[in-house]
Amino acid sequence: MLKSAEVYVDGVKNGNRLMLARTITLIESALPAHQELAREIVDRLLPETGKGVRLGITGVPGAGKSTFIESFGTMLTGLGHKVAVLAIDPSSSRSGGSILGDKTRMEKLAINPDAFIRPSPSGGTLGGVGRKTRETMLVCEAAGYDVVIIETVGVGQSETTVASMVDFFLVLMIAGAGDELQGIKKGVLEVADTIVINKADGDNIQRAEIARKEYETALHMLMPASPNWSPRVLTCSSTQSTGIDTIWNTVLDHRNKLTQCGEMAFKRKEQALEWMSFLLDEGLRAWFYNNPEIKKLLPTLKHDVENRNTSPTAAADLLLKILTQ
Ligand code: GDP
Repeated sequence: MLKSAEVYVDGVKNGNRLMLARTITLIESALPAHQELAREIVDRLLPETGKGVRLGITGVPGAGKSTFIESFGTMLTGLGHKVAVLAIDPSSSRSGGSILGDKTRMEKLAINPDAFIRPSPSGGTLGGVGRKTRETMLVCEAAGYDVVIIETVGVGQSETTVASMVDFFLVLMIAGAGDELQGIKKGVLEVADTIVINKADGDNIQRAEIARKEYETALHMLMPASPNWSPRVLTCSSTQSTGIDTIWNTVLDHRNKLTQCGEMAFKRKEQALEWMSFLLDEGLRAWFYNNPEIKKLLPTLKHDVENRNTSPTAAADLLLKILTQ
């Protein structure tokens, strides 16, 4: 038996972790009844959202994301913040298992009462990442988490989706052997508000500094995404917890600058509109592909197009006309 929306809404508002976790489970569920309830809960919680600092963090496997978030998150809770970490796991939909969900990745943070860690399944599609993660982020804010970190592995498709739902996007890198710009896509650097070279400790300090300068040069060649912010390149050591405070200060500096000139409010509004368009597109696609007549005709028409019996334009026109009949 499902509880009423009220029970979830009150639980989340009171910061009840169990009710927060259950609400997220409803958001992630594919069952229509769960989705309907989740929608009602999210809608009712909406006035409580928007107050958090939304951070996106990406980096290739091994860059040190979980070690960084452990150190960064622990520092933040020490400063009195409540931190939610949503790790988007590209593997979970395929294997049923979860590499990022393994809580031992962030041992200290996982048992920290002011932190909430949750793997966010990718759902196998880009749409899945966007929909579930965005709503999860909102309910975390409503539960009083004033810093929400969304982590992605920087090799998939989800980085730009995540960048479009956060206030600040951080790309975590390591100093490589001459091929620093490899491994992470150029489009990802274009949306970075800050690049952080991790593992700047021991023998690696000098290499990290060289990499920092190289990235700085690379960023100069890109058009900044915001007229009010020039992306920075910093170094840190997640294991030694050095440079971590500078990263938080950079996030705050970015926030102040963008808030003062009105860009932060504008960005949030744009993101909400983008989100609505995205959901509309998704809904239209589902409506189209679930239409029984389309389902029946599509395979035949595909076959005809393949064999050049029908042109792609004529086939698409025919299918679209069915919806307007
Ligand atoms: P992820 O795959 O990006 O989440 O990377 P992990 O956080 O699991 O880190 C990968 C490896 O790098 C682990 O062995 C960490 O101990 C190590 N590591 C992470 N951060 C640092 C750092 O700042 N300095 C050093 N020396 N090693 C680090």
